[in-house]
Amino acid sequence: MKKKSIRIRLTFYIVLLLTCVCILLTALSIYNANQSFVVPFLFEETETDSREERASVDTSESYVYMLPEETSSQAEEGSIVITQARRDFNIYSIGIMAAVIIGGGIMSYFLLGRALKPLRRLSGEIGQITENELSQHIDGISSQDEIGSLADSFNRMLERLDKSFSEQKRFSSDAAHELKTPLAVIKTNIDVLRLDETPEPEEYEKTLTVIERQLKRMMTLVDNLFAMTAQHSYDFNDTVEFDRMFRDIIAELTPRIREKNLEINLHRSGFHTIANSVMLTRAFSNLVENAVKYNVEDGRIDISTESEDKRYVITIADNGIGIPPEKLENIFKPFYRADESRSGTEGAGLGLAIASEIITTHGGTISARSQDGQTVFTVMLPII
Ligand code: ATP
Ligand code: MG
Repeated sequence: MKKKSIRIRLTFYIVLLLTCVCILLTALSIYNANQSFVVPFLFEETETDSREERASVDTSESYVYMLPEETSSQAEEGSIVITQARRDFNIYSIGIMAAVIIGGGIMSYFLLGRALKPLRRLSGEIGQITENELSQHIDGISSQDEIGSLADSFNRMLERLDKSFSEQKRFSSDAAHELKTPLAVIKTNIDVLRLDETPEPEEYEKTLTVIERQLKRMMTLVDNLFAMTAQHSYDFNDTVEFDRMFRDIIAELTPRIREKNLEINLHRSGFHTIANSVMLTRAFSNLVENAVKYNVEDGRIDISTESEDKRYVITIADNGIGIPPEKLENIFKPFYRADESRSGTEGAGLGLAIASEIITTHGGTISARSQDGQTVFTVMLPII
């Protein structure tokens, strides 16, 4: 079906309304007028009525005064005149009605055109914004009405979209960069091996070890990228016991914990929650892994779970290298690494972004503070 503009539609409704009102009013006025035209005959029949009495009944300039004291031929003449006047009046009324409807319709069309002009401008400006120009704004629509507030809302939506698109672009380019680094390392090592015409078995072994390590790095990265984008489709029905979950996480990290000779204090709580076990374990695993990774020799890690005000408060504290205060606000962003010196090899900077996403999906919050070499990550989860 062909689309009709708002202007045409509104004009149509106004004309419809106008027509109904005009017909009603015209019918009413014709009826009332015809009733008045009949009055003289009624007076004629009531011969006892005096002229004064009639005058007091109807003071309008009707044909009342012509009839009673005239001859019958004159009365006939009067009757013809009344019929003619009645017809004239009806035609006149209908003519005025049609003129009001047509005039009203035309005026409505032009007034609506003026009223809807900002809307047409808004639509024109929106039409010119492409996906590459989301930083653009709609200017010049400053009216304090619905169209003005629509333009404001649209500008705010553009800002949010622009921010989200920029973040996605940055995410993609960071991801590509992270994947490119291990690929470049693999290629360089293969090239070096090729340069040697008769390589020793140890050189093959060395190259293979490098390739294996870089492949592992890429697999972890791809796995993390997948976790960041596909986690929303999981179920949230598993019973997760915090003590058990942390024991398993610590067990997996034992070789690295031993390497640094770390002391780990897991304060048992006996609490459990309903969540997605795989996701929640992944989030806390990232936090404990960081506490190990960014710790110092003979360092210490404290893990505790408490309940307060209908929520669990889980803290993971370490006395490792710490995070400078000015970098704290960025650590949950994807690919952000506070400690540039370790950026080359140790992770892609996705661990906290993934943990934050998972905790938020579970209706919780995550925050970090770091002072005097003591770094504390606090996770709050609703008690279910
Ligand atoms: P990935 O987790 O992807 O292997 P990553 O550990 O570098 O890499 P995140 O876990 O997101 O990335 O952490 C972001 C940054 O925050 C880290 O690079 C590190 O600089 C800082 N950070 C995180 N946890 C700690 C901590 N416990 N102590 C000191 N710095 C930390
Ligand atoms: Mg990490």
